[in-house]
Amino acid sequence: MLYLADEKRYASMKYNRCGRSGLKLPAISLGLWHNFGTMDKYENMREMIRTAFDLGITHFDLANNYGPIPGSAEENFGKMLADDLKPYRDELIISSKAGYTMWPGPYGDWGSKKYLISSLDQSLKRMGLDYVDIFYSHRFDPDTPLEETMEALAQIVRQGKALYVGISNYTAEQTREADRILKELGIKCLIHQPRYSMFERWIEDGLQDVLTEKGIGSIAFCPLAQGLLTNKYINGVPEDSRAGKAWEISLNSDSITADKIEKVKKLDKIAKQRNQSLAQMSLAWTLRGGKVTSALIGASKSSQIIENVHALDNLEFTVEELEAIEKILKG
Ligand code: NDP
Repeated sequence: MLYLADEKRYASMKYNRCGRSGLKLPAISLGLWHNFGTMDKYENMREMIRTAFDLGITHFDLANNYGPIPGSAEENFGKMLADDLKPYRDELIISSKAGYTMWPGPYGDWGSKKYLISSLDQSLKRMGLDYVDIFYSHRFDPDTPLEETMEALAQIVRQGKALYVGISNYTAEQTREADRILKELGIKCLIHQPRYSMFERWIEDGLQDVLTEKGIGSIAFCPLAQGLLTNKYINGVPEDSRAGKAWEISLNSDSITADKIEKVKKLDKIAKQRNQSLAQMSLAWTLRGGKVTSALIGASKSSQIIENVHALDNLEFTVEELEAIEKILKG
């Protein structure tokens, strides 16, 4: 059926400025790492993308290797663009990345110019796009001079294959250096994409200061710790959850420890007192204080996206709530 986007799609989403740039990102963005690959049903993913866009989620995050099979999430997204979203291209921020293993041999991994440029060309073909809005170096490469990786990003912008560039999983010092090199090349480092949630707080130890100082935005991935920071694992591992699926290797039931579930139960109580689900509170916590531009969620069904967007109904925390959360996390 022909898709017409909801006319009220911009009514309630919040848009945050991405560092010191002209670009605004939705406070909640959707990533296609899981549930958009070969193993997944096209109609379900299509409904999720439509639902997200109807709720004002303008930013969709991909990478060359998202699948499985690597590349299939970009292919499926290309099909959804052609089927539904092409008329809305100028309302979308689409990102891709290269940095992890994509094809065999010495040119399909890490951070060489050869890899980044050819990989983006492949991504554009898979998605049927002339350009992506943001292209990332997916991880720091210790063996390639950072000048070469950044020169590749700069070339990509100059060629018009990406409007903006960013980095992902770089440490505070690597970020400072990447920003310096890009600046020398006349290119802005728009954004950093780090892992960040109540269970993963490394960015508070230096990286966030560098981002603020340099005017770089940030988009936090796995803000729900892949589903752990929701109420779904409180009573065991559901079969249709990420940890329950045999082919999923990023989260397995061994990583859902009794200690983590104890904390989740206590956090769930605080969420209830705030009239939020734990998923909503976890997202609000990630966005607290305005340091994170966007929380980058994943989803396996549309109802999760609808629930998660309602996190924006209550982004404020009292000092007592924040202290209670700290106590649980440290406990
Ligand atoms: P999340 O931490 O948001 O986890 C998403 C998963 O949590 C969903 O797939 C679903 O799992 C579960 N979930 C979501 N909402 C709810 C809810 N309301 N109630 C119950 N369960 C819920 O993020 P992801 O781990 O999916 O990562 C998000 C994105 O971040 C990726 O798609 C990718 O774009 C990016 N990313 C970037 C990386 C990088 O190196 N730059 C690395 C990893 C991710 P279930 O299937 O169990 O329903």
